[in-house]
Amino acid sequence: MASNCPAEVGMPLEAVLTPCLLVDLDALERNMDRMAVFARENQIRLRPHAKTHKCPAIALQQIARGAVGICCQKVSEAEAMVEGGVTDIMVSNQVVDPRMIERLARLARAARVAVCVDDAANIDVIAAATKAQDAVLDVLVEIDVGAGRCGVAPGRPAVELARRISASPALRFAGLQAYNGRTQHRRDHAERQALVDTAVAMTRQTMDLLESEGLQCPIIAGAGTGSYALDAASGLYNELQCGSYVFMDADYNSLRDHDGQPRQDFSQSLFLYTTVMSKTRPTHAVCDAGLKVQSVDSGLPVVHGRDDVQYIEANDEHGLLADPHNLLRLGERLRLVPGHCDPTVNLHDWLVGIRGGRVECIWPVGARGMSL
Ligand code: PLP
Ligand code: MN
Repeated sequence: MASNCPAEVGMPLEAVLTPCLLVDLDALERNMDRMAVFARENQIRLRPHAKTHKCPAIALQQIARGAVGICCQKVSEAEAMVEGGVTDIMVSNQVVDPRMIERLARLARAARVAVCVDDAANIDVIAAATKAQDAVLDVLVEIDVGAGRCGVAPGRPAVELARRISASPALRFAGLQAYNGRTQHRRDHAERQALVDTAVAMTRQTMDLLESEGLQCPIIAGAGTGSYALDAASGLYNELQCGSYVFMDADYNSLRDHDGQPRQDFSQSLFLYTTVMSKTRPTHAVCDAGLKVQSVDSGLPVVHGRDDVQYIEANDEHGLLADPHNLLRLGERLRLVPGHCDPTVNLHDWLVGIRGGRVECIWPVGARGMSL
């Protein structure tokens, strides 16, 4: 029977089939602990984004460490997480198709569910669907704080939407979604700080206006792995929705701290494990990890722990490696650090958890491909 599970629990790492995703469990746990401690020390709620791992087992570990719940980006992803035992989810995104709104409202009967909006007519459809399900939904107004993606303009337009939400008995106005994706991947600390300052000013002005009209904002949400410390320091955000910190990737590893040094708060826990499948030339080798097992939108992967070889080109099922010193051998294993963790994980059905050179667990990526 066809099976794409690359490993069995207890196996030595060398026996794992490739290509597959490895999770270094010590590093994963360190990352989860570190963010949980940061949130606790800064008295801020942590609601990690599950779009990174799409794995209920990891979501439950984040919650066990103190996270108030998780974020999902899509309704079907949220459904998979509820099926996996999560009971508090914010869909940090707009839901527009009436069928998906109905599923969202139905989900709100099984778990505490929140959603983001940036449109008045959309609020009316969500309100009607929620009432029809006899459910209650928390609704946040998303404001555009500089990303130029979703979200209404800060200030008055946001107040109009908040008032509309409050007017619906099935909906609760839960606050503001003020996430700026453009801040996250800026290498330079000062640039990230400047973008956070702008977002904070816009959000504060909107919150003040809302409160002056009697609309309280229980949640001010935002932040990603690039900006979380700056967002927390603003004293305005009270809910962090970082995702990538659990795994990290080559792009996030290139961020600099305020002193210009590489940021060191999180370590790489996710690896694309690959095998040299062809070695016919002295200067090059070919591995079995190509485009179908990784996303290269943020750049090619980095070969972990090796500066003597380089991943230089991705084809569908092949990865070309520069091997200038003719070091690689057929069958040799390498760990690649993916350029971008979230879309890479979404290409895999399994995460192989390793510790001390052995497979300790194999987690299904339960919400893999859940993009509806
Ligand atoms: N919140 C929203 C709305 C996002 O779109 C994302 C990621 O793109 C995140 C949070 C998590 O960001 P990161 O994975 O950079 O920590
Ligand atoms: Mn991402």
